Amino acid sequence: MHELALCEAILDTVTRRAGGKRVDRVQVRIGYFRQVVPNSLLFSWELLTEGTDLAGCGLDIDHVPAIVECRSCGAHTNLDAPILVCGTCLGSDVVLLCGEEFLIASIDPAREVF
Ligand SMILES: [Zn+2]
Repeated sequence: MHELALCEAILDTVTRRAGGKRVDRVQVRIGYFRQVVPNSLLFSWELLTEGTDLAGCGLDIDHVPAIVECRSCGAHTNLDAPILVCGTCLGSDVVLLCGEEFLIASIDPAREVF
């Protein structure tokens, strides 16, 4: 399960970064080409964090579109299918600008409650 492995990586990083502090929310940026199923990722996250220091910690998924730049006409195309083609001239000499991301954008520590 692809999403479970990704969650393990997130959990591992967040746990090390948090250093025992409570975390309310983790935001991840996931590119289009990662082909992640959001519900599956959230389910895996709940499964893995249950019973750990991160239990109840929310996971925000920020989807990054796949955008290519055409080397022939210079146009930028927001891909709606995983096919590397320019939407303006249909050329295939394109460079992927974003869409392959998989990173943790932020880790929000829990606010102290008095
Ligand atoms: Zn083009």
